[in-house]
Amino acid sequence: MDHFLYRNGELHAEDVAVADIAAAVGTPFYLYSTATLTRHFQLFDEALEGVDHLVCYAMKAASNQAILKTLADLGAGMDVVSGGEYARARAAGVPGEKIVFSGVGKTRSEIRAALEGGVRQFNVESEPEMRVISELAVSLGKTAPITVRVNPDVDAKTHAKIATGKSENKFGIPIARAREVYAEAARLPGIEIVGIDVHIGSQLTDLAPYELAYDKVAELTEALREDGHNISRLDLGGGLGIPYTRSNEAPPLPSDYGAMIRRTLGHLDCEIEIEPGRLIAGNAGILVSRVIYIKEGEGRRFLILDGAMNDLIRPAMYDAWHDIVPVTEPAAGVDLQPFDIVGPVCESGDTFAKGRMMPPLAEGDLVAFRSAGAYGAVMASEYNTRPLVPEVLAKGDQFAVIRKRPDFDEIINRDTIPPWL
Ligand SMILES: *Cc1c(COP(=O)(O)O)cnc(C)c1O
Repeated sequence: MDHFLYRNGELHAEDVAVADIAAAVGTPFYLYSTATLTRHFQLFDEALEGVDHLVCYAMKAASNQAILKTLADLGAGMDVVSGGEYARARAAGVPGEKIVFSGVGKTRSEIRAALEGGVRQFNVESEPEMRVISELAVSLGKTAPITVRVNPDVDAKTHAKIATGKSENKFGIPIARAREVYAEAARLPGIEIVGIDVHIGSQLTDLAPYELAYDKVAELTEALREDGHNISRLDLGGGLGIPYTRSNEAPPLPSDYGAMIRRTLGHLDCEIEIEPGRLIAGNAGILVSRVIYIKEGEGRRFLILDGAMNDLIRPAMYDAWHDIVPVTEPAAGVDLQPFDIVGPVCESGDTFAKGRMMPPLAEGDLVAFRSAGAYGAVMASEYNTRPLVPEVLAKGDQFAVIRKRPDFDEIINRDTIPPWL
């Protein structure tokens, strides 16, 4: 469910015509819907109603200040994976006690900043990291709340690049060694154990791997409590998938997910944290681009857009499918033709789709990539000195540029010439 719909033959973001925004902002650009962000956050919040819980938005999915503030105003906590994200969350007004610090390689300066600024908990990923947190907490005269991220060795059945819960992945501590690691945590000064953390991957389209992992977490909770540890909080990670194609079988709903959480973990009387990213932001954003040329190749026709892999890398990186639709609604029953849809970057990987069946399009037409709100703008680069793609937020009949397109001077002036040149 999203708020990008055709009205009077024109794609709208809520009550604003996408073409009007394109005329004001230029293309390409990302466009988000406040109502969609809000609805998706609330679906998770409602799925855990009656359970003590906090939805910590995994802000690596889309981390613009305006998006963070929209969600924070609804009561969201944040899951951060770097010092930069921690600073972004604080800048958007999120208090430290609502920020969970995840990530496999937290540096000393990142840990120090979070201890000084306040943090709900560190999700510890290794023993060396735990020792550094202890040392820094003691030196600052603080106590660091921690969970240990356990790796349950389950197959999330998702794309290899976003599976994180198998023993061969770099994430977490093997669940079999958890009791030993918690015993060390309990001995370390400056550390307070508050719970357990698990996150098995992204774009999961089935609840079964979660259930396997959460059953193991339930067992571990009881074992650690027997060992005398305080396990009062369970961080269950994120990863619930979204439908990238309309035809695709629908992934589980947040309400099904919530019911499964109650079933597997409800008896433990723990506070529940979840860290959804993609499901909150994914369908709340589109990438709008313009057709530059239509080129006839040998046996194929190329649709050359002004958006490219540097703006949206998911197709090149994860073989991801995005629905690509014309901003002006095609007439019902028009003939579809196959197009290779590409950007202008000098790489063959700069291909969004091959042989995609599309309605008739002409140079200058606008198209929209659906489901581009998560892992879109945040993964953009300035490869080929293409300016970082701007972001726009719609709300009702209003829209605002929330990150402007840099001009060439801004880009070039970030470089400096050394004195010997
Ligand atoms: C990436 C990540 C998430 C969010 O995953 P989504 O698939 O976007 O929901 C949550 N927690 C951690 C630790 C992550 O690394």
